[in-house]
Amino acid sequence: MTAALSVLSPTPAVLEGLPLAIDRDEVLRFQGYKKDVDVPTPQVLAIFEEALAIGRRFIAPRVVYRAIAVTGGGADRLDAGGERLHVPQISRLWGSIEAVGAGICTVGEALEAEVRRLFDAREFPLAVMLDSVGSAAVESLAEYANDLLCQAGLHAGTKVTNRISPGYAGWDTAEQAALFRLCPGDPIGVHLNDACFMTPVKSISWLVGIGAEARVDHYFTQCARCWMRDCTYRRAPARATVHR
Ligand code: SF4
Repeated sequence: MTAALSVLSPTPAVLEGLPLAIDRDEVLRFQGYKKDVDVPTPQVLAIFEEALAIGRRFIAPRVVYRAIAVTGGGADRLDAGGERLHVPQISRLWGSIEAVGAGICTVGEALEAEVRRLFDAREFPLAVMLDSVGSAAVESLAEYANDLLCQAGLHAGTKVTNRISPGYAGWDTAEQAALFRLCPGDPIGVHLNDACFMTPVKSISWLVGIGAEARVDHYFTQCARCWMRDCTYRRAPARATVHR
């Protein structure tokens, strides 16, 4: 199914059954551990392994994605699909782009239901660890989608930037509503409430820039975390924190 992804898909494309890696360090980071500083105890690692096994049963990765032509813009502004997005310094960060790719990904509702069940059963350490497994899983999924779009872009003769998300780097969370109008979450069961929070909670919405002259790697070196082992366009060796 992933091979069918078009970086310029004009209609919402749904991807399911994606391979998903959940990195232990990433999960522990959500638990407040600092890599190479805080050493988890054997008990913590045992809880992680148990939560990971449970998580794998409940995680259902899904992505919806759509590309929209850019119709205007400015130093801090992008116009596309009848929406005006106010993203600080986006012109400097992404350079010249021809389209934006709007996407939403989720690991689904079932994991959250299991977290609630564990809390109700007073299995607090396991519940909190499972919640962190879900957070790491959806981050990994968003990274995977970014990698996939980069590769799809290369096949189409264009470039894809790092992803950005409402609520980060000065982009107002309220513009998540505009992002959902560009790419509705309904096909993968993700909904937005009036406060611009998504359900299921373990969901991420994002935007990438697309264009032959687009500036890739504005935020981090995508290749360093990319799962595409045999990519002939690789710009940097993989030193993944997200292992696939
Ligand atoms: S290795 Fe680099 S160039 Fe190749 S798909 Fe991954 S991010 Fe893109």
